[in-house]
Amino acid sequence: MRRRSQVLKQMMKHRPFARRFAAALLASLALSTGTHASQGEEPLARNVILFVADAAGVSTVHAASLHGYGEPLALRVQQWPHLGLAEMSPVDEWKSDSANGMSQIMTGVKTRNGVISQGPDAIRGQKDGTPAKTLLEHAEERGLRTGVITSQSVADATPGATYAHANDRSRQGEIFVQAFSPRHGDGVDVLMGAGRDHIGGLLAEAGTGFEDLARMHGRPINASLEEVDPSNPRPVVVADSLDVHAATLRALDLLQGSPEGYFLVVEWDAHTDDVRQGLQNMVDLDRLMAEVEQRVDLGETLLVFTADHSFGLQVDGGKRGEPLLAGYEAWKQAGSDDEVVRLENVMINRTHTAEEVVVLATGAGAHRVRGYFPGTHLFEVMLQAWGWTPDSP
Ligand SMILES: [Zn+2]
Repeated sequence: MRRRSQVLKQMMKHRPFARRFAAALLASLALSTGTHASQGEEPLARNVILFVADAAGVSTVHAASLHGYGEPLALRVQQWPHLGLAEMSPVDEWKSDSANGMSQIMTGVKTRNGVISQGPDAIRGQKDGTPAKTLLEHAEERGLRTGVITSQSVADATPGATYAHANDRSRQGEIFVQAFSPRHGDGVDVLMGAGRDHIGGLLAEAGTGFEDLARMHGRPINASLEEVDPSNPRPVVVADSLDVHAATLRALDLLQGSPEGYFLVVEWDAHTDDVRQGLQNMVDLDRLMAEVEQRVDLGETLLVFTADHSFGLQVDGGKRGEPLLAGYEAWKQAGSDDEVVRLENVMINRTHTAEEVVVLATGAGAHRVRGYFPGTHLFEVMLQAWGWTPDSP
């Protein structure tokens, strides 16, 4: 009996499929012999999907439910069974930006604001830090297929932290180019977002452009989702603005065929500088998450929802049956750029805030999301869902 489990443990070191198969066998072996198989107790995830509502802390998620449905707890994601609170500060301040926030989720390393998936030895804009290996790189290295979808620029801080390493988030040209020169595997398989003008301008300054890059790497860089060749399994879209819903479902169609599983990251901006836009984005992301939940097998897929940092929005008034955002139209028409926005029921201090963000999870490995924890723990949650360690082959 011992030999059999040794062989199975050996198998677990190899390819993901064999590893999952062996884990299942070990579990049944443990049952039949009454022994405890340390890794065989729970199903491992084949796939992980991470949804990031950029800047949607607890108060934004709550307000989105009131705005979208006139009731609290009406978002689908608020029904997900596993809940935690992630503390997102960088190493030297209380308040996080998207770069440090997403970097710590992706790499398990807290860093400095402005820094993209490098250690805290980086000095923003001056000195590179130690590259911190991202979950996407771990997934690529193990032969999974990967996707990154965003409502923002494909080279903005949040998507950038999945596939690139840079000491300054503003260097979007350099960040984008790294998608085509991966350190592990063949790089992001499905990359879709906005930022065409901005990135195009930075590439031109560096003496290159979308067409040069596409030719050099043999991958078309399309300007819209509609332009993508239906037979292209690894599309890159850099649009003026992206339909995140359509792009995510397209990515899912492409990734679900992956023999070794997949890792998909979906970011949707939910900053409430413009409160109606931000809350509507959160409602729309929630609808997308509900749809994705229907399309995957939660027995082998982990779904995680979180934010990279919180935002200064508070609901401090209002009644059932009345619109949450009374006074919004007048504020919008006045065109005020005041830092603090006072609507009838909502006050918005238009800046990031430092309190913990909510994490909700469902599916394989979701039980590890519980209690308060540093944002770096989310890296471990996802890695362990797959049954990996940072150094395992
Ligand atoms: Zn952010």
